[in-house]
Amino acid sequence: MKASHRSLLAIAAGAALLAASCATGAGLMKAGAAAPGPGETAYRPACVLVEDVRADRDGVRVRWLSDYVPGLRDGPGDSPAYIIDSGLPGGTLLVVGGTHANEIAGMTAATMLAERARPTKGRLIVIPHLNSSGLSYGDADNPRPSWIRLEAASGVRYLRYGSRFVHPIHQGQTDPARYLLPGGLESLPGEEQRNINRAYPGLAEGNLTQMVAAAVMAMLNEERVDVAVDMHEAKPASKLRWMIVSNPKCLDVAIGAIFALEDEGIDMKLDRSSPEFRGLSHREWGDGSGAAAFLVETVNPAQAAGVPVDQLRDPEFPLWKRVAVQLEALRAIAEAYGAAFPEGEVRYDGVPGYAELEARGLEAFF
Ligand SMILES: [Zn+2]
Repeated sequence: MKASHRSLLAIAAGAALLAASCATGAGLMKAGAAAPGPGETAYRPACVLVEDVRADRDGVRVRWLSDYVPGLRDGPGDSPAYIIDSGLPGGTLLVVGGTHANEIAGMTAATMLAERARPTKGRLIVIPHLNSSGLSYGDADNPRPSWIRLEAASGVRYLRYGSRFVHPIHQGQTDPARYLLPGGLESLPGEEQRNINRAYPGLAEGNLTQMVAAAVMAMLNEERVDVAVDMHEAKPASKLRWMIVSNPKCLDVAIGAIFALEDEGIDMKLDRSSPEFRGLSHREWGDGSGAAAFLVETVNPAQAAGVPVDQLRDPEFPLWKRVAVQLEALRAIAEAYGAAFPEGEVRYDGVPGYAELEARGLEAFF
């Protein structure tokens, strides 16, 4: 095991280290630390909870949200983005996990992509843990251990499990009585001010949630992203379960993806972004950039409040199945987009499909 991996495991196992590091200004290990590439610095944030993502391999560069919104620098909202380039012409596919830090299938699928994906056309940009602030505290609706222990092929791994919202201490602004969504037509309970997926297009000099949202919007435009996928999970009883939500401009791509998934025995529903309900990724990413924008919802049984759940071995919704559906949906979306727009196509291998994950488990691929 590399020294950096030991450091990261220690971080995964104890928030005390974070506090110590912040107090001394010593800084935590940069995830995937490698020699800086073009447009990079040797930046190591002073006070950021860096997760265990082992993506330090050839062809992977690291950029940070703070490269796009400098106000996030050295603060609890910064997070790494892994840029994995085939070196061959093609499109750019952005994958975001952990917008809601209690929806672990997306974070786990995105971590697997960062660690394993080998693009053969175009490039991938993967943000495994967008809401690093939300990973710093427990889920109040369902208090459980704040990580899931995985006895993986590479050794014991810890998958962190956090909260839906940005931490109130990090927000820089107290919650209002009601949060007025971007566009001003709808309002929600005040804590929704700390929901990254109600904050788009964000504000580069706003509160922490708005800055994180603004960083994703800046990335979409500066990196000329062709296809963007936001990975989420829903409660078992939610109408959002097993769904792809599409910006209206790319509904035909979503339909193609859903038909392809159906051919593989994976049934997903389709919805389109509401014109009135603003601030959501699939709506604002698609409206505010050139990207075809999608959100994928699997099912997290732990989001049924108060129910103890074994995330890895839940009889109906084991984690491998939810990760498999996220990865299959991503591939289906990328392929449907590539069929319609070959110049924006991204192809990759190295990532297991549903059958492989069912047969060998998540553990075999970490
Ligand atoms: Zn979500």
